[in-house]
Formats: sequence, structure tokens, C-alpha cells
Amino acid sequence: LVRLRARLARSQTSLGKGLLELLSRDRLDDDAWDEIEDTLITADVGVAPTRAMVDELRTRVKVLGSRDHAEVRGLLREQLLAQIGTDLDRTLHTAPHGERPAVLLVVGVNGTGKTTTTGKLARALIGDGRTVLLGAADTFRAAAADQLQTWGERVGAEVVRKDEGADPASVAFDAVSKGMAEKVDTVIIDTAGRLHTKTGLMDELGKVKRVIEKKATVDEVLLVLDATTGQNGMRQAQVFAEAVNVTGIVLTKLDGTAKGGIVISVQRELGVPVKLVGLGEGPDDLAPFDPEAFVDALLG
Ligand code: GDP
Repeated sequence: LVRLRARLARSQTSLGKGLLELLSRDRLDDDAWDEIEDTLITADVGVAPTRAMVDELRTRVKVLGSRDHAEVRGLLREQLLAQIGTDLDRTLHTAPHGERPAVLLVVGVNGTGKTTTTGKLARALIGDGRTVLLGAADTFRAAAADQLQTWGERVGAEVVRKDEGADPASVAFDAVSKGMAEKVDTVIIDTAGRLHTKTGLMDELGKVKRVIEKKATVDEVLLVLDATTGQNGMRQAQVFAEAVNVTGIVLTKLDGTAKGGIVISVQRELGVPVKLVGLGEGPDDLAPFDPEAFVDALLG
């Protein structure tokens, strides 16, 4: 976790440092506020959340006694936390219900890091002493199931898969059935994400979910979002959030962008809690999202 924090801090400090520097200026004239706004927009905070935050900061700065570093930092910290939201429930529901496994559905556009996240999550749960079964419901490409299988072997989780072109819902159903029969703790289903067939994909995900619900409860629908795709990714995310009942966001590749503002954008515009962050390609590069640690990393 310490290593992850360090990595997060390295990639994120430019936003926080920039804001701190601008807010510490002796004269905060309109130009300075424009620069603050630009800094937020550039960091992927999104237009509406940026406006809200600048308005709030303007009001708050006025009532600050002095503008020393510690005071400005405190104000900024409070405002960033307020934007991200500290009251959202970020618990990841992975515990089995008596004899029945917990079921997690991992959704998102191809390339965002679904399979990698599924593998990392399995690894973390197995590390906690859980038994995990993976379902390869991306049957569109055989390579996708192969990739999940590799992860399964790497972390010690069995993988249920079928031939290319098989019905994704039937893979999910079989995975959950097997998970129940074998009294596995957690079943994680990796799904397809070909967005060029948007309606098709959303129908498919809906069907996967309905079919699972014949046997078990879907405890989490985790939407994987690539932090490096900025506002583009946000638009895709909106499509998913409207079509399936997303219970949590996994923001991947935060190690690959200095634009940490995407976290604020996601929280303000989707209203779904960010529950996990991806900070690298390795099996241990997944961490629970902790707003305070994140903001502290931002502010350096
Ligand atoms: P999928 O198509 O959504 O299943 O995406 P993959 O899991 O295949 O991931 C796509 C690429 O992103 C792979 O090269 C992964 O190693 C990489 N990736 C996934 N998560 C992260 C992350 O948190 N950080 C970095 N740097 N790369 C990641």
C-alpha cells in the first residue's frame, strides 16, 4: 500500500501543486481565477464540477485570515474532499451469503482494464483467504478468455469458459452454478465491451445479469473506467450507468495520468462511488479508493 501511495503521489501532484501555487498568490484577480479554472479543466475535472469548485473556492478564500501555505492547503483539501464526497458508501460487497457465493460483474469498454482488474481482484480476495471462481463471459474473442485463464493460473482461481461465440449469459450462468456447487466464496464475471454495438452490448449485459439472478444475487456491477481517456471515458461511462445498475467504479491507469481530476468528474457526474483504483499492470496494483489518501497525494 505504501508503494501504491508513492506511485499515486508521483503521478498526481501536478494538479495539487498547481492549484496550491495559484491560490497562494498575493493577488487573486480574475486572471488568476481563470488560471485556476483552466488548471481544473486540464486535469479532467469537467466543466460543471470546475465551475462549482471555483465558485466555492472564491467564496472561501475571501474569509481566509491569511494566505499562508498551510491555510490554503487546508482549504483546498477540504474543497477537493467535498467534491469527491466522503459520505458515499465505498464498501465492496464480496462476502458470500451463507452457502451462496457473492457475484460480481465487471463491465466496461474494451481496453479499459476489465480482465486485468478481474485478475487483480481475485488475487486480493484469495490473499484474504477467500475462494474465487472467474467466468469468461467475453466470448466474442477467444483471446479474451485466454487472457483471463492466464490471470486465473497466476492468482490461483479456476476459470469457467466456453468456445468463442458462445452465449455470454450461459457462461455466467455456468460459472455461478459451479460456484454454488463448489461452495466458492466469490464469483467474478468478466464481460465483453465492444462499444460499437452499443445497444447490443447493453442488451447483452442486461441478459447476463438477469440470467445470473435466476440463481444468485448480483452483489456488485463494477464499471471499469480508464482514467487516461478523460471526458471521452466519462461519456462511455454514462451509457453504462444508464443501461445497467452500476454499483461501483474502478478507475484504472491512474498511474498513467497526472489528470487526477477525473475522480471528481466521475463522482459529480455519475454519482456512483469509485470503489477501487488501478495503479499499474501487476497483480497487486489495485487498491481500495480512499478519498483522503487520494487528496493528500494530490496536494503532495
Ligand atoms: P479489457 O479489454 O478491458 O479487459 O482490458 P485489459 O485488462 O486487457 O487491459 C488493457 C491494458 O491495460 C493491458 O495492457 C493492461 O495491462 C493495462 N492496464 C490495466 N489496468 C491498468 C492500470 O491500472 N495501470 C496500467 N498502467 N495499465 C493497466
